[in-house]
Amino acid sequence: MTCLHEEKELIILNGKCHYGKNICSNCKKFLSWEKNPEITKICEERDLFIDQFIKDNPKLSPSNLSYLYSIKGKLFITPKQNTYFNSITSRSQVK
Ligand SMILES: [Zn+2]
Repeated sequence: MTCLHEEKELIILNGKCHYGKNICSNCKKFLSWEKNPEITKICEERDLFIDQFIKDNPKLSPSNLSYLYSIKGKLFITPKQNTYFNSITSRSQVK
């Protein structure tokens, strides 16, 4: 009989990239990765901030603009990317 994987079960792994995985409760087959809710929240807040920041700063240079788009939606950004992100956002906010 084929399992339809109707019930899933979350296994917490606590890894950096893989917070947890969803498996089928019946046949234990791997179904999907689960994102860390805390990191997802930080990422969503950063994305909202980027959207707002782009709206508030229509004179952003094309390179900064494309940089902001490039880190949008990323769960993790490196410390170097974060420094650059902060340098763009604090520099342009001075009015
Ligand atoms: Zn199943």
